[in-house]
Amino acid sequence: MSEQTQERTPERRVVVVGAGMAGVQTAVALRERGFTGPVTLIGAEPHQPYDRPPLSKTILLGTAEGSAFDVDFEALGITLRLGCAALGVRPAEHVLDTSEGPVPYDCLVLATGAEPLRLPGAEGVPGVHLLRTLDDAERLRPVLARQHDIVVVGAGWIGAEFATAAREAGCAVTVVEAADRPLAGALPAEVAAPMTQWYAEAGAVLRTHARVERVEQGEGPGQPGHVVVLDDGSRLPADAVVVGIGARPATAWLAGSQIALGAHGEVLADDRLRTSATDVYAVGDCASFPSGRYGERLLVHHWDNALQGPRTVAADIAGAPGGEAPEAYDPVPYFWSEQFGRFVQYAGHHTAADTILWRGDPASAAWTVCWLRGSRLAALLAVGRPRDLAQGRRLIQAGTAMDPRLLADPAKPLKAATA
Ligand code: FAD
Repeated sequence: MSEQTQERTPERRVVVVGAGMAGVQTAVALRERGFTGPVTLIGAEPHQPYDRPPLSKTILLGTAEGSAFDVDFEALGITLRLGCAALGVRPAEHVLDTSEGPVPYDCLVLATGAEPLRLPGAEGVPGVHLLRTLDDAERLRPVLARQHDIVVVGAGWIGAEFATAAREAGCAVTVVEAADRPLAGALPAEVAAPMTQWYAEAGAVLRTHARVERVEQGEGPGQPGHVVVLDDGSRLPADAVVVGIGARPATAWLAGSQIALGAHGEVLADDRLRTSATDVYAVGDCASFPSGRYGERLLVHHWDNALQGPRTVAADIAGAPGGEAPEAYDPVPYFWSEQFGRFVQYAGHHTAADTILWRGDPASAAWTVCWLRGSRLAALLAVGRPRDLAQGRRLIQAGTAMDPRLLADPAKPLKAATA
């Protein structure tokens, strides 16, 4: 153990690993809570900490230059160590090992987010892109500007948003999806069905039941740089390939740390976002937490979770003003997506056992679908109906009993559809 770790400074040293939304918000929330001890924010990327949602929207199209967080770290007394990768934790010694040497801590917050899944066999192939980081978006911007022919692998949230931007930029876009519909991992078939049409309306080709077997190099000068070969033998020429097939928690670096991980590699946190190791917390895309509201553990890969979770972590570290125990972390999960000219919002959490109830015609421009568990709203997805979303989110939060007949009438405000 180093000399540094044996010394106890009078104020606890908080070290936050991962300088994305969750890490930055944790550092800021600590100061907002009046925590005066040293706070160090460590991030692997060399860039000033930035927000990710604009990467698949304005930044890709070049209508925004950057999305750096508007936070004055120096004024807040937050020490930023960028371009520094955490390599492991020794919880018993309260030491974080990094590419720049050991960093002692009193409290450690894991906020290393998620990393995109790679397409097997296409790792490192030039012209095969991912979309997670600012560097990824900057590599893709000229691809869009050159109006290339693009094959997008995966019709999930990122694939849909990228296809939207690429069509807007004038690229020819083919989206290949192994499942029978878009968003198969997130939504049931009847809810995803109307979304299939959105691709065609935007002029993108959506091929479902289409599994990529391999990506080959193009056939020579004047020909597109790649050929995407599907498992039915189809060959799709492409100047560029963009892979959006999901993400997994960025926690490989925790192997051997004794910090408990779940089946998806996520850090298993408790309802105050504490991990299995003393004085170590986990927040954002890298962690799951037990939801009292839904009676199951949730792993949420969305922005709002990276905003809300840090408040719980900061409250637990800094302590409540009256000394009472902080509230359990039990949010109504929320996210939005901007795709094919539509604003799609989702709040809550549903399972296949919940009852689906429609508000409005899914073939129209604006509709909502609700999931009921008993008489209560478990979740809702609103397309172009932000008022439904805002009201529904509050109804889920409050656990209000609903009247299904009133709920199905899109002309009635959702808040008036209570039992
Ligand atoms: P991240 O943002 O992934 O940040 C983690 C940081 O930790 C990264 O900078 C990473 O480099 C760093 N790191 C990783 N490992 C280490 C290590 N070992 N040492 C040091 N640093 C490390 N959500 C929505 O709700 N709506 C949207 O419209 C939306 N759009 C999105 C668009 C894109 C292109 C992407 C990629 C995501 C989008 N999301 C959206 C999801 C949202 O951005 C994430 O949920 C959010 O960024 C999670 O924040 P985080 O801080 O947990 O993780």
